[in-house]
Amino acid sequence: MADFNKVLTPGNPDKGELNVVIEIPTGSNHKIEWDREHACFMLDRVEPMAFAKPCNYGFIPQTLDEDGDELDVLMITDQPLTTGIWMKAKILGVMKFVDGGEVDDKIICVPEDDRNNGDAYKTLEDLPAQTLKQIEYHFNHYKDLKKPGTTEVKAFEGLDSAKKVIAASIERYLEKHPELKVKKGMEEVADQAKEAVKETVKAVKKAVNG
Ligand SMILES: [Mg+2]
Repeated sequence: MADFNKVLTPGNPDKGELNVVIEIPTGSNHKIEWDREHACFMLDRVEPMAFAKPCNYGFIPQTLDEDGDELDVLMITDQPLTTGIWMKAKILGVMKFVDGGEVDDKIICVPEDDRNNGDAYKTLEDLPAQTLKQIEYHFNHYKDLKKPGTTEVKAFEGLDSAKKVIAASIERYLEKHPELKVKKGMEEVADQAKEAVKETVKAVKKAVNG
């Protein structure tokens, strides 16, 4: 299996686009997690059936959240997705969330290209209210049979807030992987150089042609 943290980048969050890897399909009570040490998926535990996931659950490659894991994603689709696929996603917002005193935010996404609903979901407000209610209820209660009262949904916030959470998680990952930071820096310099050359060519053409 591919090591998703090696073969994928986080995508282009500044433009609202993300790369997402799916761990748990909607409707599953299997807490399947990406095992970054062995680069494969593992079943961490079986949750009570009453707390099956109300939406697909996954992560953004090359990110590091405050809990030490990749940044989590809630992916909303009509049909359950499959463990192990990756996809391009559109960011709608973020669910601010605390688990056992640790920040454990979840980025809320939909597929980038959804021709079933005609890309109807562009912001959190476009989602059915009941969808967010179910997600909020799930994450406030899914640990109740084992450790009640340890999780709390703090708020749902829009795209700008989500982008900040993602940027911080990418930065945290880059701090731990300086070789990627150097590569990213070089790519940015190369992009700037390309732009500068384009501008120069344009200016020269204009000067020659009058
Ligand atoms: Mg997490």
